[in-house]
Amino acid sequence: MKRMDRHRVKPGSRVELARHDPGSTGGFRGGKKKAAAELQRLNERLEVLQELLWAEREHKVLVVLQGLDASGKDGTIRHVFEGVNPAGVRVASFRVPTPDELAHDFLWRVHPKVPGRGELVIFNRSHYEDVLAVRVLELAPRAVWEPRFEQIVAFEKLLADTGTTVLKFFLHIDAEEQRERFQARVDDPTKRWKFNPGDLDTRKLWERYVEAYEDALSRTATDFAPWYVVPANKKWYRNLIVATVLVETLAGLDMRYPPGEPGLEGLVVE
Ligand code: AMP
Ligand code: MG
Repeated sequence: MKRMDRHRVKPGSRVELARHDPGSTGGFRGGKKKAAAELQRLNERLEVLQELLWAEREHKVLVVLQGLDASGKDGTIRHVFEGVNPAGVRVASFRVPTPDELAHDFLWRVHPKVPGRGELVIFNRSHYEDVLAVRVLELAPRAVWEPRFEQIVAFEKLLADTGTTVLKFFLHIDAEEQRERFQARVDDPTKRWKFNPGDLDTRKLWERYVEAYEDALSRTATDFAPWYVVPANKKWYRNLIVATVLVETLAGLDMRYPPGEPGLEGLVVE
């Protein structure tokens, strides 16, 4: 079994996060140093594949990143997508909805951000907040968020049916790792800007977020929009898994460079 497969949620199965070790390194031998070399190779392959995606303008790729505060969503974006062509890659971040957004259905703000042909879009948080934060913080009653699992699956089916490859990653850290990262943010003046005191309130709701995530992962993992539970205590392993899944998936898309205008082959430019 490939390394990436053991982290993919089997559609229809029940996810129990306690059974996924956030500190796992999947038996990867060589540790951090060898992982850095491997990540560089993956970065280079991703660069070529994304160029091809952009050149062909046929497929669309959506990467969803979810995880608790300090789980490494931003770091994953920086490390995994290093070297890609910014012209064809976009990051969309989802924050607390504005009054205008709240006046619409929850997918209204999401749909315009999905990738068009040739594009790779990374969601830093996503429509999943509407069954996570909304549920845990009780921003809407169960009668509102419960139907969203089905609505999300239908939405992702639409995207998949219209040529979008959807990959979803849950960056799995434990409470001790989050504590250390929060502390590091507070202690380091160059990281302090990332620390929002409100994150401490969120931290107190850890168990409820775990429950909400378990439901979301279990109920929205499909063959056309798979979830990966990524052990994320070790940043190098997290990067390796996300990069591997991306590279293997893009490599499987059967993309080709456009042939160019007829008659160009053999043309000598004077
Ligand atoms: P950050 O990712 O640190 O910029 O924080 C964004 C915040 O916005 C997080 O606390 C999210 O839980 C919150 N958020 C994002 N989307 C939603 C949503 N649909 N409803 C409520 N809160 C949200
Ligand atoms: Mg935050």
